[in-house]
Amino acid sequence: MAISLAFHPVTADIIGQLKAIVGASNASASQADLDLHAHDQSQHPAHPAEVVIWPESAQQVAEVLRLANQQRIPVTPWGVGTSLEGNPIPVCGGILMSFERMNRIIQVHADDFQVTVQPGIGHKDLNEQLARYGLFFPPDPGANATVGGMLANNAAGIRTVKYGASKDNVLRMQVALADGRLIEVGSRSVKQSSGYDLLHLFVGSEGTLGVITEATLKLVPVPALMSAVLTSFETVEQAVEAIVAIRGSGLDPAALELIDAEHCKMLNRAEDVHLDEKPTVFMEFHAAHEATLEAGLDMVKEICDDAGAVSFRATMDAAERRKLWQARHHSYEIMVRSFPGKTFFIMDVAVPISAYPELIGYVEQVKAQENVTAYLLGHAGDGNIHVEFPFDDDVSYQTAMKLNGLIVMKALELGGTATGEHGVGIGKTRYMAKEHGPALDVMRSIKQLLDPNGILNPGKIFPEDGQ
Ligand SMILES: Cc1cc2nc3c(=O)[nH]c(=O)nc-3n(C[C@H](O)[C@H](O)[C@H](O)COP(=O)(O)OP(=O)(O)OC[C@H]3O[C@@H](n4cnc5c(N)ncnc54)[C@H](O)[C@@H]3O)c2cc1C
Repeated sequence: MAISLAFHPVTADIIGQLKAIVGASNASASQADLDLHAHDQSQHPAHPAEVVIWPESAQQVAEVLRLANQQRIPVTPWGVGTSLEGNPIPVCGGILMSFERMNRIIQVHADDFQVTVQPGIGHKDLNEQLARYGLFFPPDPGANATVGGMLANNAAGIRTVKYGASKDNVLRMQVALADGRLIEVGSRSVKQSSGYDLLHLFVGSEGTLGVITEATLKLVPVPALMSAVLTSFETVEQAVEAIVAIRGSGLDPAALELIDAEHCKMLNRAEDVHLDEKPTVFMEFHAAHEATLEAGLDMVKEICDDAGAVSFRATMDAAERRKLWQARHHSYEIMVRSFPGKTFFIMDVAVPISAYPELIGYVEQVKAQENVTAYLLGHAGDGNIHVEFPFDDDVSYQTAMKLNGLIVMKALELGGTATGEHGVGIGKTRYMAKEHGPALDVMRSIKQLLDPNGILNPGKIFPEDGQ
């Protein structure tokens, strides 16, 4: 989808100026580099930038933005391109700004349970380096996404139910504005009450308001003990009943995930995990004492039995727990590999937990009504579900779009949102007016104030005319 705004092309002269700012080896207009940064992991069509740059400092980022703003050239920030809504696709061409070479830990503030990082560090790489301090950064979107990409999308993942999303785990950021100013937002104090909350204005803004050049993140101690629980049910409805009861029990799970029977079949084939091929709930619990963990597990079993569990497996063995979670993390890739030639349309609605049974019931109903194949995988503890539709031609794509629309409308009716964690990107723009009403105009005014020439990641978040 090419967007036609009044932007100027990236000329040879501009490439020369960019090279003078970031260094000759940190800019490329080769077809291979443009192609590599033309698509994310979503179904949205690829679109290349005109040049890719790899800045190495905040000052370089700011200088590039100043130049791009003067010259009216779009700039799209890029983490590692694992988004699922087209968020980093440079749909207007221009400059693709990759953070691959700004991937350092700047300082570990171990006594304050904080770390300050450059935006291009992968959260898994960060946690590997933090292990020696007995600390970790909890948000976990599965893929080795960068901290910058996670903050820009407000990514969440499997541990949100206990530790919160990216927005809940950041204290301060340095941000480069479209006009080249570098500002600090937030502070290293855990309590903050000073002025407008600009920190959380930039979190979740998908690179459309400013570019994150540094972030101080909250850390938590690595739990002394962890358990994994797998429990299966005859029906999705029973599984959802157990999930809602566990959320209401005060047990504080660190993960509470739903996967449907078809996903279990695919995981069994690919990962040797011996799951029951029925709707299954994956859980994780963290505790400082074995007795606390064991008492909690007894309560979990009771709740699941009451909801009609047909199997219950709990383990405190670290290797087995890792194997099960690895399978859960690979479930999307395994599904994609199981359907060669098909592309997946992934939904990301979320609702308050009390409305989760109704949402899931509705999804099952529309699947049956339309007689379509679609798979369910969800961060159920947060009321978030991903419905995955395979498609391979225009007819099946249109059906996926129709179901997506129906399910989003149902989520909104239930007090939820069109996107719990993947962001608006390209795919959810059409629902922004419905979800936000007059607040969307306020978002437009903020965009106009911070980026009057619209150079930052254009084509995202706001609906096009006629949508
Ligand atoms: C298999 C798989 C599983 C996933 N599971 C989850 C999940 O459970 N939960 C979840 O939330 N997401 C999930 N995702 C989606 C994805 O990992 C997240 O959206 C992640 O935040 C993207 O990070 P990234 O580094 O790849 O950023 P990119 O995709 O490169 O960019 C994301 C957005 O951030 C902007 N951006 C990047 N860097 C900066 C910066 N420094 N400053 C300003 N803007 C910037 C980009 O312009 C873009 O809008 C999954 C993806 C895959 C492929």
